[in-house]
Amino acid sequence: MKLVNRVSVFFLAALAVVLIAYSGAFYGLVRARLVRQFDQELHGAFNSLVAAVEVEADEVKWQPLEHTIAIGATDQPDEVSWVVIGDREQLVEKSRNATPALIAQARAIASPAFHGPDVGQLVMNGDWQVLHQRLAASWREDGEYEHDPPGEDERDLDSFDELVVVVARSTSTLNANLRLLLLLACALPVGAWLAAAVAGRWFCRRALQPVRDMSAQARSMTSANDVDSRLPAPQTNDELADLAAAFNTLLDHRHRAFEQQRRFTGNAAHELRTPLTVLLGQIDVSLRRTRSPEEYAATLRLLRDQTAQLRTIVESLLFLARAEEDALPPDSETFSLAAWLPDYMVRWNEHPRRNDIRLEVGPTHDGRVRASRALLARLMDNLVENALKYSAPGSRVEVSAAFDDGVALVRVRDEGRGIAPADQAEIFNPFFRSRAAREAGIAGAGLGLAIASRIASASGGRLECTSEIGRGSRFTLRLPIAGKTARQGADV
Ligand code: ADP
Repeated sequence: MKLVNRVSVFFLAALAVVLIAYSGAFYGLVRARLVRQFDQELHGAFNSLVAAVEVEADEVKWQPLEHTIAIGATDQPDEVSWVVIGDREQLVEKSRNATPALIAQARAIASPAFHGPDVGQLVMNGDWQVLHQRLAASWREDGEYEHDPPGEDERDLDSFDELVVVVARSTSTLNANLRLLLLLACALPVGAWLAAAVAGRWFCRRALQPVRDMSAQARSMTSANDVDSRLPAPQTNDELADLAAAFNTLLDHRHRAFEQQRRFTGNAAHELRTPLTVLLGQIDVSLRRTRSPEEYAATLRLLRDQTAQLRTIVESLLFLARAEEDALPPDSETFSLAAWLPDYMVRWNEHPRRNDIRLEVGPTHDGRVRASRALLARLMDNLVENALKYSAPGSRVEVSAAFDDGVALVRVRDEGRGIAPADQAEIFNPFFRSRAAREAGIAGAGLGLAIASRIASASGGRLECTSEIGRGSRFTLRLPIAGKTARQGADV
């Protein structure tokens, strides 16, 4: 199910529940109020008429003039009608709107054949509510009278043995009002629900339009060369804009990584091609004619040198491609740097410039570092080799170790040509070689410092460079002392 439909269904279902509850409550309350009002008016009229009857011991008097009775004076359809019936079902008085049917009903109630209660309520013709009360002189109730009951001729015109008051009101208007109310209570919510369904769907589609645009754009970005395309960023300043911005940032990172990879591959191919071309050239020249054993030996030595260089480049490339930047090498161990460094430096004792190299290890420290000895040696090889390569014979190359606030520092300092400030930011990138180094014809592939820097970070440390043109360079390896907390290690 599409997101638009899911959101719409949820929203419309919730709205339907709310509307049904609201309409049900509204209809129930208004209906109860109308019915109560109808009953109150009917009973009010009934009570007024009953109050107009004076019940005495020997007679019942109909005295409407002493009470103001304006009930039933109009022709309103829901106006209360009333009838008063006297002895022998004689019509005493009625309201102007009393119908013949009501008069007949009142006479029936007053007749001796009526067996209902003296005070009661009944329904006439289906839609008339009728209240009636029989009021009789009390002697008739008690069955005793001090004297003989007065004869009919002795009575006044407004006095009777008993009177029956009948009040009625048609429920047709009330029912019509209730039907209209029911219709409104059903039709209005249905109308509102339909309008909300149409508007809600439109809003949902509109709100999710950026998502559709983004997916369409993402689907169109299938070409591997299409590295510049980005998702359209909606100007809505909401979660979707955040999503598009985050995704575009990710694409930027990917693009940079892709570019780096491409440069790396191009440079690697270039670096491999040069020694291969030299190799092929040497072989072709040698094969042009028959050579003396000495010439073959000289050519083979040359080939061996080129092949060794080729192997160094391939190994470096493999190392850079394989090493995970922040993973500690598997052969890592904890050892004393102060003890290891002099052992390591022994390998430089055979170098032609061995007398230029100085080793200084600061006051011994109980701090130990955690690293791979082999990789640390490789890192140091690159630094010392560079220091010798980029400085004049006879100038000093200083290797030192020191400990500073939980960090081990290994420094390689030379008094050579130095590195231009602009180049200092680049020297740790694979294949970077300064223009000065290339112009001076100093051999190298630009991989040594990239590898050294990768080893430093894999050991939890950092490699830094400070240099001044014409005065020399200083490379500093900072390694955390083993056993220090992660926080202190992070300060390296
Ligand atoms: P390579 O030495 O093979 O060119 P590196 O990665 O070891 O590659 O060094 C990268 C570049 O940094 C060198 O080409 C050189 O320009 C510069 N560089 C490195 N070490 C030094 C140094 N000690 N003195 C001057 N320049 C240096």
